Amino acid sequence: MAETKKIAIIPGDGIGPEVIAEAVKVLKKTEELFGYKFETETGLFGGIAIDETGTPLPQDTLEKCQRADAVLLGAVGGPKWDNNPKELRPETGLLGIRKALGLFSNIRPAVIFDCLKEASTLKPEVLEGTDLIVVRELTGGIYFGEKFRRETDNGQEAVDTCVYNVKEVERIVHQAFQIARNRRKKLCSVDKANVLETSRLWRETVNKIAPEYPDVELEHVLVDNCAMQLLRRPSSFDVIVTENMFGDILSDEAAMLTGSIGMLSSASLGEGSFGLYEPVHGSAPDIAGQGIANPIATILSVALMFKLSFGYHEAGDAIEKAVKSVLDAGHRTGDIAVDKSKAIGTTAMGDLIVAAIHK
Ligand code: NAD
Repeated sequence: MAETKKIAIIPGDGIGPEVIAEAVKVLKKTEELFGYKFETETGLFGGIAIDETGTPLPQDTLEKCQRADAVLLGAVGGPKWDNNPKELRPETGLLGIRKALGLFSNIRPAVIFDCLKEASTLKPEVLEGTDLIVVRELTGGIYFGEKFRRETDNGQEAVDTCVYNVKEVERIVHQAFQIARNRRKKLCSVDKANVLETSRLWRETVNKIAPEYPDVELEHVLVDNCAMQLLRRPSSFDVIVTENMFGDILSDEAAMLTGSIGMLSSASLGEGSFGLYEPVHGSAPDIAGQGIANPIATILSVALMFKLSFGYHEAGDAIEKAVKSVLDAGHRTGDIAVDKSKAIGTTAMGDLIVAAIHK
């Protein structure tokens, strides 16, 4: 019997609760099939938490997350709260939860499902076999360095500083090597070491760590080149690790390869095996309450949780295979359907995937 894993479940706003409901069915099915034991606690977060408790991130929800082994989050936000002051905005809760849980890396897989290749703007033959993960540093770099403006003879000047220390680089690079070790064992470290001092420190640190992972093949690629290669030879990448701003840009570029936001899962990781898992998409207020949201991104976030936080690789693979087989059989939600009249709803898609999960 596997040990009990505690999962904090945070549905949030808009389509969040609809897609989370399908992910919960997947959790239950894997308990039955693989003998896992999950203990779940549900918490309020985002707009709904503002309405019910007066704050986007109630202490009770934070404590549920802190005593969990992993967090599964739907999505937060919506027009109702868009004009609120900063402290009463759902997005403020998102930043707060990441900080409070010590999450320093963001992981975004980009996988091409053969039957959806047509949904991408790239040629199908270029996309063939693409299955990569971008590991982005989340708490350092130019977004968090000192910022100020000053007067000069040429008018006002603005300064953003980019700072990284060895410790910040080491912890994420170790994480990326470990992820690569459990995949195709290829790590691409992206920097701009030809011009940036932070990038030179990044590269030196990666090279110092590399001998600890002799089974993983390492390459260094400059960020501008990486941006090109992602469009030219996406299938040659396995795991990409990079600093905050480069990761922000490259992970969106990689996401576009797949063509649909309803398919993209993500994880934010801290020290140890703890992680927060969520779809990349938002709360989609335009389709909320209609039962038509695509639950696949959230279901794939469960697969990611199994692999990265619990080491349940067999079940993670089983979920991914189930998604693939349902898509191969031609089932589509509206966002990925060519013939919208044949699209199925959120619950039907969830049920089909659950039924397709096999040991
Ligand atoms: P969005 O991702 O919610 O929606 C963009 C478009 O994609 C919409 O047309 C939507 O219908 C569609 N879409 C998204 N997910 C889908 C799914 N699973 N199935 C089918 N279609 C889907 O982005 P947005 O419209 O820019 O933002 C809406 C709200 O979500 C905002 O309040 C924003 O702040 C918030 N948001 C939250 C998160 C998060 O919780 N992590 C992330 C992004 C945006």
